[in-house]
Amino acid sequence: MFDINNILRENIKRLVPYSSARDEYQGEASVFLDANENAFGSPLDQQFNRYPDPLQYDLKKRITEIKGVPPRNIFIGNGSDEAIDILFRSFCNPGVDNVVLVPPTYGMYEVSANINDIEIRKVNLTEEYQLNVEGIAEAVDKNTKLIFICSPNNPTGNSINRDDIQTVLANFRGIVVVDEAYINFSRQKSFIQELTEYSNLVVMQTLSKAWGLAGLRVGMAFASEEIIEVMNKVKPPYNVNESSQQLALAALANVDQVNEWIKETLAQRDRLVLALKDMEFVVDIYPSDANFILVKTTNANGIYDFLVKQGIIVRNRSKVELCEGCLRITIGTPDENTILLETLKTFE
Ligand SMILES: *Cc1c(COP(=O)(O)O)cnc(C)c1O
Repeated sequence: MFDINNILRENIKRLVPYSSARDEYQGEASVFLDANENAFGSPLDQQFNRYPDPLQYDLKKRITEIKGVPPRNIFIGNGSDEAIDILFRSFCNPGVDNVVLVPPTYGMYEVSANINDIEIRKVNLTEEYQLNVEGIAEAVDKNTKLIFICSPNNPTGNSINRDDIQTVLANFRGIVVVDEAYINFSRQKSFIQELTEYSNLVVMQTLSKAWGLAGLRVGMAFASEEIIEVMNKVKPPYNVNESSQQLALAALANVDQVNEWIKETLAQRDRLVLALKDMEFVVDIYPSDANFILVKTTNANGIYDFLVKQGIIVRNRSKVELCEGCLRITIGTPDENTILLETLKTFE
């Protein structure tokens, strides 16, 4: 059975969180002289002189409408990258605990583990880019606190088999993080609906990809109330700034636009796959549930350098284990994709 007290760091159990001026008074008042802000305003058209809502309540209310998850089960971070870091800082003792990662996958899990001095146990995905469930079970010991699973996975693009993730969730007594940064492009169901089933599940999503707000830095984690409470206690008090909260809220009113872009992205993905398939240097194109494709080529470095010279940047993943020869290509606008394809046709 999962018990959060078994994995929480002792110093975090004892932690008395910072109490901000906004935490200590939240009622109706007209004169705020409690936070040493500039009462006159901001030297801008828009006013940002007041500290933002530490718990981003308006934004969470809107996310609740869209995702069906109550605000008490939502954490909002300065990008999902902040949520990743906070999970390490809350649950993993530096120099003692470990995390299981399943490469090839998103690079920030490893970087964040290294920053926090947490041992990394790698259990590679299979040749089909699926979980090695037995290998994960063998890698886990009493100091394993977190397992990160990215689905759809970056950089491979495929979704991870649902049954396998559920097996890991059911057998692991630490936290399983399912990173769904690309879920809007997938035909698979989100793991959000499993939150009531698994108290050790954290689902991460972000406004950086399909929602088109990478520059605002807004990431979400969905989990049990217990886990969210810990994350809120550990996060910096004002981790999501006022302009990001306001702009994210405005953007979330525009679901229809985003859904239209998703459809267009999927159509463009099909188009790129079809066109690339016939190119001589393309060995394989992996099935994608995301807004990018992983393409195995005969000469990744050569193609990469050639594209750079033409002002086109893709991601060279050819040095990543299990991705030898691979380029990761983000789906662009129709015009950008045309430029890419026309340029690739001129590659010898
Ligand atoms: C892009 C990406 C994110 C997004 O991180 P943000 O900090 O929210 O921008 C998270 N996870 C994966 C796997 C990604 O590819």
